[in-house]
Amino acid sequence: MKQIKFSTEIYMGSDALSFLGTFENERICIVTDKFMVESGMIDYVISEINDSNAYEAFMDIVPDPTIENVVSGVEKLAEFKPTQIIGFGGGSAIDASKAIKLMGVELGLIEAAKLIIIPTTSGTGSEVTNFSVITNKKENLKYPLVDDRLQPEVAILDPRLVKSVPPVITADTGMDVLTHALEAYVSTEATVFSDALAEKAVELIFNYLERAYKNGEDMEAREQVHYASCLAGLAFNQASLGLCHGIAHTIGGKLHLAHGRINGVLLPSIVQYNGNESQRALERYALLAKKQGLSNSRGKMGVRNLINEITSLRSKLNMPSNFIEAGLTKEDVAPFISQISEQALLDPTTKTNPKAPTVEDVRKIVTN
Ligand code: NAD
Repeated sequence: MKQIKFSTEIYMGSDALSFLGTFENERICIVTDKFMVESGMIDYVISEINDSNAYEAFMDIVPDPTIENVVSGVEKLAEFKPTQIIGFGGGSAIDASKAIKLMGVELGLIEAAKLIIIPTTSGTGSEVTNFSVITNKKENLKYPLVDDRLQPEVAILDPRLVKSVPPVITADTGMDVLTHALEAYVSTEATVFSDALAEKAVELIFNYLERAYKNGEDMEAREQVHYASCLAGLAFNQASLGLCHGIAHTIGGKLHLAHGRINGVLLPSIVQYNGNESQRALERYALLAKKQGLSNSRGKMGVRNLINEITSLRSKLNMPSNFIEAGLTKEDVAPFISQISEQALLDPTTKTNPKAPTVEDVRKIVTN
């Protein structure tokens, strides 16, 4: 028996932040990063909070948030005693806010405050998932926590908040969305429900990501890509992910490279690998390619056309096609190859890949 749950309330549109205006007599802690405060973006949130409430910001979150980040957040929130926690920013601030709440509540330091997530990038879908990716700096490990207590109560999707995302981050985060959707689509846990969400997310990314990248002021494109990110999040919250994320988490824990960029390098090789190794994956990729108008073939040609579409989008977004182009040297990567290959097999997202990979399979994909 499969249980399908969509438990996060979603508010969408350029007036969605007005949801915050319904708060009365709350203690609100905004978990965010310095950029959100220094750029003034936090005013979008603060201006909606009325005077009956008390609020403060914890703004120390860094990209790829660390265990230390989470611990100091718990300390801060334990002092402030929030009744509402707002995670405001990209996936890093969001994931940190989720982990801070879970750890604080578990340790009895924070009351069971509500979690409201307001994404300012269109990428992780973390506003609707029970995932939080935290980095252990000492061990060079980046690990997804997966727990229903990480599921946010509310997600607010306001496309105005992503207008300022620079092109390179638009590309990285958009490629993360495409990876979420494609991994959910061929996951061993995929259902007709996750398929519907993943198909729409892929369609929106193929139709709008290049426009959002080329002209950040194109609000139609920004809005559609923002919703695609959430749709893909809803898809993989049901179906989980696959080997691309398993490898990307492992690489991201060791080498400093944006998560979406790592996915962008790996994705075509992963589709190729899954299409070669699993008949079911081959058929599903081909079906998706057909639905997107990329191919009429039910077989290998469909997979090839899908890969061509991904690599063509990637080059239009000026994204690297390998780790050397992404700025790493062979010397950076070489010491980690065996660790990456072994640890990727242990990442929880790898479990739902259509084919269970071997260490040698991963090594070939990474060094491709
Ligand atoms: P990010 O949160 O690290 O943000 C990247 C940069 O963009 C930061 O410097 C941030 O300040 C800046 N930024 C954010 N919003 C902006 C805006 N509106 N305008 C200008 N700059 C802005 O990047 P991300 O890709 O959103 O998140 C990546 C993190 O999320 C990684 O740690 C990744 O592993 C994790 N992740 C989590 C999930 C999940 O389900 N929880 C899924 C995928 C990825």
